[in-house]
Amino acid sequence: MNPHSSRPTPRPASSEGNVRAKKALGQHFLKDEAIARQIADSLTGLTPHVLEIGPGMGVLTKYLYNREGIDFHAIEIDSESVRYLHDHYPQLHVIEGDFLALDPATLFSQPFAVIGNFPYNISSQILFKVFDNRNRVPEVVGMFQKEVAERVAAKPGSKTYGILSVLLSAFYDIEYLFTVHEHVFNPPPKVKSAVIRLRRNGVTSLECDEELFVKVVKIGFNQRRKTLRNALRQLDRPLDAVPEQFLSLRAEQLSVSDFITLTKSLS
Ligand code: SAH
Repeated sequence: MNPHSSRPTPRPASSEGNVRAKKALGQHFLKDEAIARQIADSLTGLTPHVLEIGPGMGVLTKYLYNREGIDFHAIEIDSESVRYLHDHYPQLHVIEGDFLALDPATLFSQPFAVIGNFPYNISSQILFKVFDNRNRVPEVVGMFQKEVAERVAAKPGSKTYGILSVLLSAFYDIEYLFTVHEHVFNPPPKVKSAVIRLRRNGVTSLECDEELFVKVVKIGFNQRRKTLRNALRQLDRPLDAVPEQFLSLRAEQLSVSDFITLTKSLS
């Protein structure tokens, strides 16, 4: 990882001096300032420490980094964007690197919020990393593909309810904030986007074997058409203690607390 110390080097500027969008990095730059501000203002300030993932040309960043009392850092994988940010926001602390490879402890000794108009090609991985760091990340505000946002915010019984809905809602209150149309991006993505907010819900422990909980949720949804009786065979654990009513259901019918009860009955 290359810290931000290097001086910006001259670059072959594109026509307007803007960063050229690179598809492989999921770059769709937000053009609409009102939406950018709305996203930035959606952080409720549970912590003054904030990490932005993928600032690009800084459309969200500029509404955040110089707020009073904020301890703001950004991580951006694209060196052209990093150079752009150095040129336009010299006081901004931006790390050139991959968020998925970042050890957050190197940046923050305190809990920190995560914000971004995220690179859509790694949105699930970002959310799994948030889940893994749930005790250090009290708040997330992010733009995702609409479909991912809906999945995360989905409730039991719906077709989109899945692994991330259960894992994240076990520890976060999840709000679907608003939908964003394709034409406010350059280049426009193929799909609509949406902004969601996650806030830690105060649950510190699920009072069951949490590793097994994650495994049960994943196994259940990876074979979502099967009843749990069939899906759970993979676990190689006796199902005798599992409440009968769960065995004939499918994973998408179980709430977080059902999954906790189920996990306990498997331990
Ligand atoms: N926030 C900007 C850019 C959004 S596009 C805007 O709203 O306009 C997504 C951004 O994430 C791009 O700048 C891309 O380079 C960056 N990115 C992609 N993969 C990344 C990763 N693994 N870690 C950090 N940044 C990443």
